[in-house]
Amino acid sequence: MSKRKKIENLNIEIRNCRRCRLSQTRTNVVLGEGDINSRIMVVAQAPGDNEDKEGRMFIGPSGKVLDELFEHAGIRREYLYMTNLIKCKLPKYRKPKRDEIESCSPYLDREIEIIQPDIIVTLGHFATSYILSKHLIDTPQDFKQVYGRTFFTESGRIILPLRHPAALLYNPELKESMMENYRKIGIVMEGLG
Ligand code: SF4
Repeated sequence: MSKRKKIENLNIEIRNCRRCRLSQTRTNVVLGEGDINSRIMVVAQAPGDNEDKEGRMFIGPSGKVLDELFEHAGIRREYLYMTNLIKCKLPKYRKPKRDEIESCSPYLDREIEIIQPDIIVTLGHFATSYILSKHLIDTPQDFKQVYGRTFFTESGRIILPLRHPAALLYNPELKESMMENYRKIGIVMEGLG
């Protein structure tokens, strides 16, 4: 079966999913989007209000910040495959609960299995914590120290945790360090050749 067909089948399943309570409060499931042949997969936390209304990734204020950070780093969205750890909106932007992560993360695992990215860029605490715990044998204890560092899985895949773009909306002082860290996406890509 082709990669595209596998993703389409997975997306049909996700769109109809009622595995957790978030199915009762969502307007739309937000599916992964972008280039399924990209070497880079970006994993964010969950859709916000705008994303939930439109069923698209990063179209609200965080999306605007993300586009600026990408532009500064010389990255274009269409080069990437982007998805979320949690596919349905979290009410009032609350944190995901453990059982919601357990219910939804198998979809992300399957996306990774299908897309086979060389680099996984995680945005924010929950996506980073999930991916590092799942893919590294020695998981760092302090997740605040991981942003902008690269980690290698046993199979040679690179994980690059970055702060979530929403962090900049609440704390503009992070701008310089976030721009510097986002530039690492391009540096890691160049390293792959
Ligand atoms: S958050 Fe994930 S597991 Fe929960 S209903 Fe939505 S798609 Fe299903």
